[in-house]
Amino acid sequence: MLEVVNLSKIYSSKKGAEVRALDGVSLRFPEKGMVFLLGKSGSGKSTLLNVCGGLDAPTDGEIIVKGRSSKDFTQSDFDSYRNTFIGFIFQEYNILNEFSVEENIALALELQGKPKDKAAVDALLKEVDLEGFAKRKPNTLSGGQKQRIAIARALVKSPEIIMADEPTGALDSNTGKQVFETLKKLSENKLVIVVSHDRDFAEQYGDRVIELCDGKILSDVTKSYIESKNLTDNVNTVGDVLCIKEGTELTDGDFEKIKLFLKSKKGDVIIANNDKDIKSFKKVSRISDDGAKEVFVETDEGGIQKNQYTKEDSRFIRSKLPLRHAVKIGLSSIRSKPIRLSFTVILCTVAFVLFGLLSTLSFYDSDSTFRQTMLDSGDTMKIRKTYEVECVWYTPNNEPASYISAYETRFSEDEFAELKAQYGASTFGSVPVNLSLNLRTNSSNYYMGNIAQVGYLDESNPMRDGINGTYPANDSEIVLTEYLADVIVNCKSYTPSGETIEVASRDEIIGKNISINGANYKIVGIINVGTIPEKFGTLADSQEPDAQLKSEFSTYLGDGMHQIAFVGHSRLAALAKENQPFTPDNYVEHRMIGVFANGKAAKYPEWSNIKYMPYGEMTEGVKYTSVNGKTEPADNEAILSERLFITLMCETLNELQNNSSEYDERLANIIQLGYAIMEKGEHKDVGGKSVLQPYTAAQLDAKRTEFINGIKQYKVSLKLSAKMFNGNQNSAFGDERQIEVIGMADIAEEGAYEAMYLSAATNEAIWSEQRQTLDYYEEYNTKYIEDKNAVYGNIFLPFDKSNEQTEKFLQMYKNQEFDEESSRYELRGEFVDKLSMIDGLVDGLSTAFLWIGLVLAVFAALLFSNFISVSISQKKREIGILRAVGARSADVFKIFFSESLFIALVCVVLSTIGSVIICGLLNTSLAQGIGASLFVFGPLSFLVLVAIALVTVVAATFVPVNNAARKKPVDSIRAL
Ligand code: ADP
Ligand code: MG
Repeated sequence: MLEVVNLSKIYSSKKGAEVRALDGVSLRFPEKGMVFLLGKSGSGKSTLLNVCGGLDAPTDGEIIVKGRSSKDFTQSDFDSYRNTFIGFIFQEYNILNEFSVEENIALALELQGKPKDKAAVDALLKEVDLEGFAKRKPNTLSGGQKQRIAIARALVKSPEIIMADEPTGALDSNTGKQVFETLKKLSENKLVIVVSHDRDFAEQYGDRVIELCDGKILSDVTKSYIESKNLTDNVNTVGDVLCIKEGTELTDGDFEKIKLFLKSKKGDVIIANNDKDIKSFKKVSRISDDGAKEVFVETDEGGIQKNQYTKEDSRFIRSKLPLRHAVKIGLSSIRSKPIRLSFTVILCTVAFVLFGLLSTLSFYDSDSTFRQTMLDSGDTMKIRKTYEVECVWYTPNNEPASYISAYETRFSEDEFAELKAQYGASTFGSVPVNLSLNLRTNSSNYYMGNIAQVGYLDESNPMRDGINGTYPANDSEIVLTEYLADVIVNCKSYTPSGETIEVASRDEIIGKNISINGANYKIVGIINVGTIPEKFGTLADSQEPDAQLKSEFSTYLGDGMHQIAFVGHSRLAALAKENQPFTPDNYVEHRMIGVFANGKAAKYPEWSNIKYMPYGEMTEGVKYTSVNGKTEPADNEAILSERLFITLMCETLNELQNNSSEYDERLANIIQLGYAIMEKGEHKDVGGKSVLQPYTAAQLDAKRTEFINGIKQYKVSLKLSAKMFNGNQNSAFGDERQIEVIGMADIAEEGAYEAMYLSAATNEAIWSEQRQTLDYYEEYNTKYIEDKNAVYGNIFLPFDKSNEQTEKFLQMYKNQEFDEESSRYELRGEFVDKLSMIDGLVDGLSTAFLWIGLVLAVFAALLFSNFISVSISQKKREIGILRAVGARSADVFKIFFSESLFIALVCVVLSTIGSVIICGLLNTSLAQGIGASLFVFGPLSFLVLVAIALVTVVAATFVPVNNAARKKPVDSIRAL
């Protein structure tokens, strides 16, 4: 059934030298009998046996098992071949110490997928003379006993071939003999291949002896017998040996034959006749008691029957290590590394908890939380409008960095009307202000001393009907909310005449006059905009209020309507103008340029610190007086602010006046006119006091033209020599350029005194020179231009709680995108802040959990990997033995995966408990005040946690186990 053809095995050492352990060996083994592989150490015996047994793969050649060639074998087939047909016996016994005697034996059966057959095991134990040893542990047995266990293990699956590599090498000769006897007995009906270097044993027990030398077959002989022949009636011969039976009387005829026999032989003749000599003589000559003599003759392999095998005969049984054994072997080493185990478990648990929390966060439904919270939060929603600004930072040697930010802007009347059409008549707008209520006593923690917004209810607004009193009919009337009225009742405001309003109830303040930020108002009504939650009431009395409650209250007030005063529309518009929202333009400093006076040109100041900007930035509608009829500066032309223009001119004219020999009255008048224009009027003496008489608009216009015409007569140069200037006089740099002044503009805005407006190109040319000298600068770009009629900072929308409106608000809440005009509507309110804080928290925590979790998971996986690697090296022996008995790589995987899955299970249990506890803690501390739990560790989160744990553990286990499992069995065994 077993044949090897032209086997060779070449080992190459690290130094590159090649060892031919087998060199073209071909053999056909009989079906049964004892075959010895004999040879000196290093001759290739073990290699041949290992290749024959499928423990090692040949470099070349094939083994043929029941007609199947190893050329078609996978590694797993080699294992299955061994598992099915071969019982291995090693010099070092190789039995598993953790398993009892019977378990060791039964394992071979179980690997074949057969049930543990107690009776068969007991019978085998009896056969190897170890009855009653079933429950013993191997470490209580002697070497000979262990080897017999190994034989029993080899036999239990009734293999067709037994292979033994120096099975007696570690035993004393008597025990060794017993082992050989046992094997000899087995060889009666199976093939037993034994490796030995002991010729005597080989010849004594072997039916066939194959001698190897340097990987080649030196000789291959088979035992045969010479039968005795009658020489005479009384004398027999066996080969060259003469045998005369006891008690025989030889005749002369016998002697005659004996003489002839001896004559035909050469050499010495021994005739002996005592029991001892004869016995040892027979033994040496291998003559049996019945007179036959053993001799070895050249093996004739042609005589070995070549059977035909069916597919059925050569079917392999794939090994299947029972799970409980895998678990037993796998878990046996866990206990031996408690500290390593604890670290691994703790780190994995922490990593898994983070992933668990991460998954709860990813299941957090921001939208539904929003809807719920909004429905609970009131029936008016406040929105504001913001626009998109790109801020670009320029720093030397770097690409400019830019980021987008949103700035507040205001709704126009059109936008208001559109919203009102959508949301209903109760829609109204307000302007954020900070108007002092002018309280006599200090404001308290509950009674705030200011009006935060002024609102306007148009005539059609039904909220007007809820006013106790009337709606303001002119700019000096005002309606307060009940809260603001309470502030006045409790803290007493000053009237315009400086007295205090002392009233006992809200109603009594109707009709009272009050001074707010220097303006006088008559309170004409009180409006109810809802009730303030009772919990805030305690703030009124307590001196040292709860800080949390206090800040909650100020948010509540800021977002709500209680601090709104209602006024007429023109008052609202005026207040809107005074309370421009912050814009980056307000903030950007204008760039400075130095202006030099040359020749007859403006001499004073010699240089000036002037803000230059493009003409396009000049406020619309500014009064502009041209010098030469031009309305807009071309390149290298400028319009100066009126004050700058007049100052420069008048100082120059003064110089002319001072330098001329005679007093020029006309010149003096022009100079005076300049100063008058700057003051927009003339000083007249009234009763000894100098009183300014303002010009009318038409007068002022005429004076400006007169002034311009006047200076032209004196041919004062209107050319300025402009140079870049960086903070002080000496740091001028860049190109000097001549700039022609084409007119003056009455810029009323603060800070516009020293303004110079240039063409866009000139502005950019100067700016680009200046940029090169700056360490960094920033630019703000936006497509958005606020509507001229923009007034309302906030719009209050009635919320009917319909699905439609809820979704609209949800979109406003979620919408972080700006529209084409770079603006967007934003929902405002306490709950919006809270929700967006929580959304941000969810995002932030998710990211943090993800990264920390990933890093920890990598560490955990490495630790895990290391743990398993150590387990593997501790279990080399077991792996080797199992492989020898017939276990596949898959069985090795099973062992270590059961170990790592067990640890993973522990981690999953701990992480689940940890996650549930931490979720509870986080929910109570973070998500207070919204009607939803942020962290819900539900079944899905649990599944995510389990999946993460599996992925981590499988990945961490696979690499080291794969290395161990992919090893050739012979390498695993050699490592023993
Ligand atoms: P034997 O069993 O007859 O003593 P082996 O079959 O073990 O001999 O070895 C045959 C030859 O192959 C020896 O020279 C040995 O050094 C070499 N050899 C065996 N195994 C390896 C190996 N894994 N790597 C390199 N050389 C080996
Ligand atoms: Mg050997």
